[in-house]
Amino acid sequence: MAGESLIPATEKRDHTMHTLTLEQETNPWEAQAARFDFAATKLNLDPGIWKVLRYPSRELIIHIPVGMDDGSIEVFTGYRVQHSIARGPAKGGIRYAPDVSLDEVRALASWMTWKCAVVNIPFGGAKGGITVDPKALSQDELERMTRRFTSEISIILGPDRDIPAPDVYTNSQTMAWMMDTYSMIMGFSSLGVVTGKPLSVGGSAGRNEATAEGCFVAIEEAAKRQSLTLKGATAGVQGFGNAGMYVAKFLEEAGARVLAVSDSRGAIYDKKGLSVQSVVDAKEKKGSVTAARGEKISNEELLELPVDVLVPAALEGVITRANAPRVRARIIAEAANGPTTPDADDILRAKGTVVIPDILANAGGVTVSYFEWVQDLYSFFWDPDMVRTQLQRTIRRAYADVESTARQHDTDLRTGALILAVNRVEEATRIRGIFP
Ligand code: NAD
Repeated sequence: MAGESLIPATEKRDHTMHTLTLEQETNPWEAQAARFDFAATKLNLDPGIWKVLRYPSRELIIHIPVGMDDGSIEVFTGYRVQHSIARGPAKGGIRYAPDVSLDEVRALASWMTWKCAVVNIPFGGAKGGITVDPKALSQDELERMTRRFTSEISIILGPDRDIPAPDVYTNSQTMAWMMDTYSMIMGFSSLGVVTGKPLSVGGSAGRNEATAEGCFVAIEEAAKRQSLTLKGATAGVQGFGNAGMYVAKFLEEAGARVLAVSDSRGAIYDKKGLSVQSVVDAKEKKGSVTAARGEKISNEELLELPVDVLVPAALEGVITRANAPRVRARIIAEAANGPTTPDADDILRAKGTVVIPDILANAGGVTVSYFEWVQDLYSFFWDPDMVRTQLQRTIRRAYADVESTARQHDTDLRTGALILAVNRVEEATRIRGIFP
């Protein structure tokens, strides 16, 4: 796709249902475009604005030379895509992984535009990444690659232009290197150019738990509407990293029984409920949740358990048209980005499963990133209670907005969230007008 125009000369619009081939369903760009079309059709979006919002506004591809520890030179390909700046500076994470592609980065950049609009924070959407296996690089090589990447994309970065954050296989250290590199280029310290930084260089309290806390608050809201009491409810969590581990903790604290958790090595199950802390300890000591006490099951079995709440918090595309008919959870809270395919959505909707879509369920992370940016700009830092109160308020308000939009358009929460987001971005785009 790179090198060709993404935008067809003429576009036929008939997107009243999801009809993707399997190949399209698993291509992140095609899948996100199908969902956007679906929402845009329901919204009766103006065809011109539809084109503006469907495609990214800026794409930067760079080839990054890195001096390796053994004296050789390696060249990696990196991307930064800004989908929209209609509502404010572009915002979105940086991902290091062997399968990073322009299509994936494009899809994730548009997703960030919609996510920021759902929680009504004044950002547009962006995403970046490098096609690399970060586990094969030393810490020094990672630092050199990150700094060269940052300097290459610095022409479009800035606290009021484009603000990266951590994503898959990048972390607060990566963000500290990015902030320092940008600051050295500018000649002054620019803390607000990235978020997800360590506390000592302008990070925010509560950022580590933010995604999970937002997800938990969204689960509370959904449970309330389903007359489900979380005390005594059952749950399964796929993925036990930053998002999944904290969601499991919050659910347990609320009195739910977490029956199963998993990581890349497999899943464990206990029908009476696992002790989340003992799973954390086992993972810390032996590197996997499967070392904790409990019956060993597969990741696929976890998704099909008869639980009240299922939290996919690992990978994209795990609930598909193949397994959706066997998914028995009442509420699915998408802590991960894109865990459910569009076809699976149709099946779950028909079954009456409540799916809290990723752009709402995991928006706690970008919400606290926004708080971090605000704190950096003001050089005035909040205590953890202030962060928590503001985060909870933001997610509860967003849930209510999504729900009322869904009701108004007689649709599910995912389409409701997208309609809400597209509407907000459309309004900003229309009011600003098309330059010149
Ligand atoms: P992480 O790297 O901390 O954790 C990922 C977890 O998934 C690990 O426990 C890993 O073992 C597990 N995993 C990997 N392959 C698996 C497999 N095949 N089956 C089951 N588990 C598997 O990542 P994270 O930050 O927790 O992110 C998880 C998801 O949440 C991603 O989709 C990410 O985009 C999304 N997300 C995270 C944040 C955040 O702030 N951390 C914000 C928004 C969205």
